[in-house]
Amino acid sequence: MSEAKRVFGIDLGTTYSAIAYVDEHGIPVILKNILDDGMSVLPSVVYVEGSGNVVVGIEAKRNSVLESERTFSEIKRFMGKPDYAPKEIDGTTYTPEYVSSLILKKIAQYARADLSMPVEDVVITVPAYFSDSQIDATRKAGLIAGLNVLNILKEPTAAAISYGVESDNNNQTVMVFDLGGGTFDVTIIQIVDNNIRVVMTGGDAELGGRRWDQSLVDYVTDQFRTEHGIDLCEDENKEAYQDLWIRCEEAKKALTNRTSTNIMVSCGERMKVEVTRELFDELTSMLCQRTIQLSRDLVARAKNEKNLAGIDVILLVGGSTRMPQIGKAVQEEFGTEPKLYDPDEAVAKGAALVARKIALGEEVEKYFKAQGIDVNTATEAEKEQAVHQAAKIFGLSSGVAARELATSIVNVLSHSIGIQAVDDDCSDIIAVMLPDQTEFPCETTQQFRTVSANQQFAEIKVMENQADITDERNISGWKQLNPDTGELPIPPSLQQGAPVLVQFTIDANGKLHVYAEDQTGHNRIEFDIKLEGVMSEEEVEKAKAAVGALAIS
Ligand code: ADP
Ligand code: MG
Repeated sequence: MSEAKRVFGIDLGTTYSAIAYVDEHGIPVILKNILDDGMSVLPSVVYVEGSGNVVVGIEAKRNSVLESERTFSEIKRFMGKPDYAPKEIDGTTYTPEYVSSLILKKIAQYARADLSMPVEDVVITVPAYFSDSQIDATRKAGLIAGLNVLNILKEPTAAAISYGVESDNNNQTVMVFDLGGGTFDVTIIQIVDNNIRVVMTGGDAELGGRRWDQSLVDYVTDQFRTEHGIDLCEDENKEAYQDLWIRCEEAKKALTNRTSTNIMVSCGERMKVEVTRELFDELTSMLCQRTIQLSRDLVARAKNEKNLAGIDVILLVGGSTRMPQIGKAVQEEFGTEPKLYDPDEAVAKGAALVARKIALGEEVEKYFKAQGIDVNTATEAEKEQAVHQAAKIFGLSSGVAARELATSIVNVLSHSIGIQAVDDDCSDIIAVMLPDQTEFPCETTQQFRTVSANQQFAEIKVMENQADITDERNISGWKQLNPDTGELPIPPSLQQGAPVLVQFTIDANGKLHVYAEDQTGHNRIEFDIKLEGVMSEEEVEKAKAAVGALAIS
């Protein structure tokens, strides 16, 4: 018998990444980086050693202080941001997609070493607040790394899925509180009989463990200035300052297990700064309170808008939820003891479960196609046979495969989308087609009218809200998603106010299909959103070839 097929879930994190697969019993398993340190997470750091040679992971992180010009940390924060100026090293341009692809490549390498099989089909996770262009950039990073990206999944959804599979309670409302290295996501999810429904998402893209590190860095810098009159922030003290950042992150982690620790500073003079947990909590209480405020607001909004009854379970995921202050504050606010749930591995495991469900579904479809059977009219026996065949490919029993196939996920939009229009006073506004938090798959239709007589075209500009608050009149908070204006022809010599219909359809994978029709002459246009990523398709191909020629260790 040939070897069972495997597909993978990858948590491409701001600070750490991980990869998992699902075994033949339906249990997700994390792979270890046996090429370096045997750990189950990989620091998301890339160091360009020479031309044709990059180092990814723990070794790159060690170099990041002395070789900061040739090192990339936290590149994820710049994914899909058109205003980011990529670094040039030895004549090569390192875009965020390219750097991320190097991390993915390294992950695929060690997974292959651990499992003795290549990594091809993957689901990659992104934060809940990622916009379409950031998601697209992530997909491109996967393509550049030579992976087949089955889908992109939101991190909290992934965490909830792995929790849902592990927990025996099949009916519960879960709040996922994900505080990572760079970002904070809070998501409310309902699990009902194998179905996972994302009720609402919120968070702050700039609030993560690094801000806690910064509080310590600022404190120690002040102490050192007072004691020795030396300012570590001066350019000439750059190395000492970067070194301090690493020591402060270590001190922060130490304070998770102990009540006091020392931070050493050396820059001309030497100094030992003692920090107690009490002091640390005081220095960072504003940050902690902000996570609570955002969670409180989200629960209130879900109660108001989505008839949420209450929260049954709170899951803490993300490395920064290990800080005791977080669990304490959450418990005080919500009155239930939160579960510190597999903070480093839950996301990759959930992604692996979704990858397997998608791959199984694809095999079932392939079987039907090969047999010339129409899925909609297939008999129970034919369906059973299809599941049996798909299960065999993955080395599973039919029971495990059927259970995995039965899981469904309903997701919500994290950003409002709409159409640019003109109001009665002739100023540009946005007609919101689908507000944020709308569940998809979904479909919506709205009627518009032409603004002037004899209008030749109606421009269909699809807009996505980029600001925290959806403001329909502040156009600057919105970004156009279709690169060219969709021009819908209008029949000649019509009066002002001729009707135009616009329809948005979003499929289960979040792909937006736009349809517009002039209802007088029945001209129509339709298009899928060509997302405005930072890289074009040709650039992806070029980058893919370049990555293929690199040695990655
Ligand atoms: P991301 O998903 O953003 O990459 P992670 O969920 O891996 O982030 O979390 C990384 C963050 O968690 C870092 O800021 C790190 O300092 C912090 N962290 C990891 N372990 C601990 C610990 N024991 N105590 C406090 N913070 C920790
Ligand atoms: Mg994470």
